[in-house]
Amino acid sequence: MEKIKMTTPLVEMDGDEMTRVIWKMIKEILLLPYIDLKTEYYDLGLEKRNETNDQITIDSANATKKYGVAVKCATITPNSQRMEEFDLKEMWKSPNATIRAILDGTVFRAPIIVKGIEPLVPSWKKPIIIARHAYGDVYKGVEDIVAEDEKAELVITGKNGERRHLIHNFKNSGGIIQGQHNTEASIESFAHSCFCYALEVKFDLWFATKDTISKKYDHRFKDVFDELYETAYKNLFKEAGIEYFYTLIDDAVARVMRSDGGFIWACKNYDGDVMSDMVATAFGSLGMMTSVLVSRGGAYEYEAAHGTVTRHYYKHLKGEETSTNSVATLFAWTGALYKRGELDGNMELTIFALNLEKAAKETIEDGIMTGDLYSISTLPQKVKVNTEEFLVKVGERLQEIMEKQ
Ligand code: NAP
Ligand code: MG
Repeated sequence: MEKIKMTTPLVEMDGDEMTRVIWKMIKEILLLPYIDLKTEYYDLGLEKRNETNDQITIDSANATKKYGVAVKCATITPNSQRMEEFDLKEMWKSPNATIRAILDGTVFRAPIIVKGIEPLVPSWKKPIIIARHAYGDVYKGVEDIVAEDEKAELVITGKNGERRHLIHNFKNSGGIIQGQHNTEASIESFAHSCFCYALEVKFDLWFATKDTISKKYDHRFKDVFDELYETAYKNLFKEAGIEYFYTLIDDAVARVMRSDGGFIWACKNYDGDVMSDMVATAFGSLGMMTSVLVSRGGAYEYEAAHGTVTRHYYKHLKGEETSTNSVATLFAWTGALYKRGELDGNMELTIFALNLEKAAKETIEDGIMTGDLYSISTLPQKVKVNTEEFLVKVGERLQEIMEKQ
């Protein structure tokens, strides 16, 4: 079979530890035999980030802006222990935070659903995609501890003088205060990303805040979404046969639990942080959760939602067998290849990406899976395979699928 040609390169962001091992295996076993893979390679492994003073991360984000599609391996976010382990010059920022800031995007997290891995919520049949606003609110909060007899005020200064609001008069007891902000530009960009992504995947879009209590702050989020929907997206949604739906956050939580899935749930920063972990857990496994960063400028960066699986990596280094789930990382690749194919009008590439996803799902549904899934799968006949065996099995299945077409 002739290899599939690519016209525009993908931005390839390599990473760390076990996922770096998996990255190489995926390329060798499942991609290079079939595709004349064109990538612009950036090594975001921690050594290289340290060597380049993290310039490599910035360069990779700018390349994503240029080419429009990137695929990223999980990376270590340094902490004090990693500073020592890698003898780092600085505690470099999380690459995801750096890339997100440059691309000004929204992160969409979606579960990969397969037979045998049943969601903990029995009614969930289709994916629930969480869209998390990744700027501001409590994450950029300013806090203080206030003593008894102190008074806290909110002061806004500008061209026209100042405005003051009493927060609280701490007469009989000290306490705590917090200031939060968000920007019109960031909320708008979040809303645009959500509407665009809903149109792309043809899922309804739900958005919820606590606007009954937060009559200015949360209410502004609601209004920005409403205004954009009415002026720019209403007709497009109608044509696509999907809906935009706003409700209170408590009502949303209750509805999500009763739903059968198949929608995007847009969340403010904190809600998204908390709810994405709940939804991910309820769908079964971290190894089956993908993530895509969509920028307002139309760039896409695909990755797995999990980390570098450090514990497995140390086993691997000792020469012990590992059974690490590669599906989310594989779906980062297929997501990126599909998008590249779509943007370039390269049908062969999009079909290949879909076939590869099908092969991975069917392999698991046939009962061949890694340890994390083996422990939760309800299939009567299942076998646990190691990291590499799983990818080899997916490769065999892919070959079968392609020969049939
Ligand atoms: P993690 O790598 O997601 O792993 C946590 C645990 O979840 C693992 O020990 C493993 O459980 C299970 N797990 C996660 N992915 C799995 C997979 N594909 N297959 C099988 N089991 C899987 O999180 P972490 O240990 O907290 O973080 C490790 C490193 O990753 C840190 O340096 C962190 O900074 C980084 N990180 C990066 C990203 C990113 O790049 N997007 C995200 C999160 C964390 P068992 O050990 O019980 O098998
Ligand atoms: Mg969190």
